[in-house]
Amino acid sequence: MAHIAIIGAGMAGLSALQLLKQAGHQVTVFDKSRGSGGRMATKKVGNASWDMGAQFIRSHHPEFSKVLRQWQLDGWIEEWQMQPHVIDDQGIRPSPDDIERFVGVSRMTALSRRLLAGADEFIPSCRIISCQYQAGQWQLCSEDNRHFNGFDALVINTPPQQAKPLLQQPAPELAAQCEVDMLPAWSLLLAFQQPLNSDVKAAFVKHPIIDFISCNSDKPQRDKPAAGALQTWVAHANHDWTRAHCDSPRDWVQQQMLDAFFAVLRLDARPLAEVWLHRWLYAIVDQPLHKGALWSESLPLAVCGDWLEQGAVEGAWLSGRKAAELTQQRLGADR
Ligand SMILES: Cc1cc2nc3c(=O)[nH]c(=O)nc-3n(C[C@H](O)[C@H](O)[C@H](O)COP(=O)(O)OP(=O)(O)OC[C@H]3O[C@@H](n4cnc5c(N)ncnc54)[C@H](O)[C@@H]3O)c2cc1C
Repeated sequence: MAHIAIIGAGMAGLSALQLLKQAGHQVTVFDKSRGSGGRMATKKVGNASWDMGAQFIRSHHPEFSKVLRQWQLDGWIEEWQMQPHVIDDQGIRPSPDDIERFVGVSRMTALSRRLLAGADEFIPSCRIISCQYQAGQWQLCSEDNRHFNGFDALVINTPPQQAKPLLQQPAPELAAQCEVDMLPAWSLLLAFQQPLNSDVKAAFVKHPIIDFISCNSDKPQRDKPAAGALQTWVAHANHDWTRAHCDSPRDWVQQQMLDAFFAVLRLDARPLAEVWLHRWLYAIVDQPLHKGALWSESLPLAVCGDWLEQGAVEGAWLSGRKAAELTQQRLGADR
């Protein structure tokens, strides 16, 4: 049994964790956030809660479809029958499809927590800033100067901009492969005392500011307005607009997105019960590398993340699995 460190508890790191635990290893997971899930985040403000990043999970790959079926049987995810709409200059119209879309229940982060439960140790609020390999062991150091030693192998699951500084010293050849653009996105989270008068519950939008809106309360196992809960909505700004206004004042961004949200739904503005604005600096990979994972020829070190496979939860899962397979091979070869 080897002791393995995973930096990053996003879907890729959690997918690596599943396979490494199945193989009998001891695994410690680190994340700079207070919880797990990364871009599959859920935000709670007052009595409102929203999936703030990934809105749903889709599958194209048979292996990932199998895993989704299992998670569905386990009651970790449910299908969201969202009846998509398209909204553009021409108006609002239904755009039915037969795509299966799943969500974590009762929120996206619940799925990541279930996956994380298999870890031997989870160290949250811990931003790792350096990784060194000495005398056959990895040593990690955090921003707040905590030291963690004694790992036989290391898996890094972070966006490329955050992986690069970690790789610079031990594996400059891998750091050089982290020149991958990630597109930013502003997310506006809204909650209303009275449900909006709209048939739309999710829409792909062609608009200068917003490209997707959805009613979070419409997802399975969320608190429902019919039972007295707030109605919650999510609006994602498109990447071009976000890039142009990445550093604009938050109040201004919020107002622009709010105006756009009501304009898109062809509704008059309504009072808000809660509101939250989040900036994702590294929301979606522009052009993924399609390599699965990165690995070192000389060190027990693998790197995973959606940017190495495909910019979605599925891509992150596939990448994490690949990183775990490579780690397994490496540990086997070293014995
Ligand atoms: C607004 C938005 C909407 C999206 N919509 C969808 C969707 O509907 N469907 C879909 O499939 N995908 C969607 N995605 C993409 C999807 O969320 C990602 O592809 C996937 O979650 C990426 O997982 P990951 O494990 O590669 O990375 P991440 O989720 O980014 O995980 C990386 C983790 O590393 C941690 N970390 C980073 N640096 C350090 C460090 N130095 N030390 C310790 N920890 C560190 C981070 O805190 C994070 O938890 C969306 C993303 C965003 C932002």
